[in-house]
Amino acid sequence: MVIGAGIVGASIAAQLPEDVSVTVLDQGPSGRLRGSTGHAPGYVGLLNEVPVLTELARASAELYDDLELDGVQGFDRVGGVEVASTPETAAKLEERAELAVRAGLPHRLLDAAGTAALAPDLIDPAQCLAGLHYAQDGTARAGVITGALRKRSRARFVDDAAVVGIELRGNRVSAVRTATESFPADDVVLASGIWGSLVASLVDQRIPLTPVAHPYVYGPKRAESAARTPFVRWPEQHVYARDHGDRFGLGTYDHAPQPVPLDRLGRTAEQPWPGELFDDAVGRAMALLPEANRFPIAERLNGVFSMTPDNLPLLGAFPDITGLWSAVAIWVTSAGGAARGLVELMCDKPSSFPDVDRLRPDRFAGQDPADLEARALRLYRDIYASL
Ligand SMILES: Cc1cc2nc3c(=O)[nH]c(=O)nc-3n(C[C@H](O)[C@H](O)[C@H](O)COP(=O)(O)OP(=O)(O)OC[C@H]3O[C@@H](n4cnc5c(N)ncnc54)[C@H](O)[C@@H]3O)c2cc1C
Repeated sequence: MVIGAGIVGASIAAQLPEDVSVTVLDQGPSGRLRGSTGHAPGYVGLLNEVPVLTELARASAELYDDLELDGVQGFDRVGGVEVASTPETAAKLEERAELAVRAGLPHRLLDAAGTAALAPDLIDPAQCLAGLHYAQDGTARAGVITGALRKRSRARFVDDAAVVGIELRGNRVSAVRTATESFPADDVVLASGIWGSLVASLVDQRIPLTPVAHPYVYGPKRAESAARTPFVRWPEQHVYARDHGDRFGLGTYDHAPQPVPLDRLGRTAEQPWPGELFDDAVGRAMALLPEANRFPIAERLNGVFSMTPDNLPLLGAFPDITGLWSAVAIWVTSAGGAARGLVELMCDKPSSFPDVDRLRPDRFAGQDPADLEARALRLYRDIYASL
């Protein structure tokens, strides 16, 4: 039984062995992705300072490479580029290049002109000193990937099915309950994204997962462009931009972090736009683009995703309850690989990811929840340093 049909739940369902009977329950309506997956601009960057995340991302990208739905490709390896505007950041990019060498990821250090030429609509040569290009990074249509995985799996997907209870026999899971039905279960996977703590609390389990709000804006629609623009990040300004083909998008972490209290989550991973706080951050982000390409904002998204005290997923078994598994705080970037890692754990198979134990959900056991949340929020601004 998988609780949550976002990219993580669908990836797990698609990779569980065919002889296992799998049901995926989601509180959302049919055909709509109301969780974070439905809101992500979808950068998949392979390099991470934490090696297990690089491996999860690499495995995810390999899974996504082949996926399409109704003729629409789910993943496009357009590449990614990090832009430096100061000598200090340029030096950091050189360190990142060494990390890429160790990870075996193709990359190129570039001068200002070479960097700006990769994405002339987005990179202002006047604000660029150097760049680092990652050839195997890409952009995901997370909804397409999720739909394709859902189709590939043999699982039964039940929509409009909010889980309100998890039943135990002794210390073992035995069933999952919605308001109208009870589903017997030998294993239950929490793939419930930002709602993970709420679902875990149904069986008195605590997980240090903090939902945070994050601004992303879209420009007006334009004629579809065939340009294969890499995803652009400005690490020192905590800003990123994507060419969606028919419009540009811009996101920023350059603002005070905004945790979303659990009782304000509602049923979608979207919150009202908070006004000035995000407007100011978006204004600063927009100023990084070449002057002629700063766009009027056609759509504002205040999306919600999960953070943890070390920016790593919570993946693995709950030690106190047999048959209960966690698969939360997982980005699109890692979802396919994380799902494979979890399936291997569940099936007692040797892991493709030797360090997967580092992600176990009980690694913060006994620590002060307020301190854990503060640690998670401190990582918000530099999220792209480690993702
Ligand atoms: C604005 C924004 C930008 C982002 N940018 C990127 C990016 O560039 N790259 C990247 O890799 N990631 C990005 N992310 C993060 C990424 O979107 C998420 O980490 C990922 O989609 C999480 O997938 P999930 O399946 O765990 O969660 P979700 O997609 O949220 O799915 C969880 C599902 O669980 C269901 N659920 C919850 N509680 C219950 C219940 N009680 N009963 C039944 N169902 C339940 C929900 O309805 C939901 O469908 C971004 C997110 C946002 C919001």
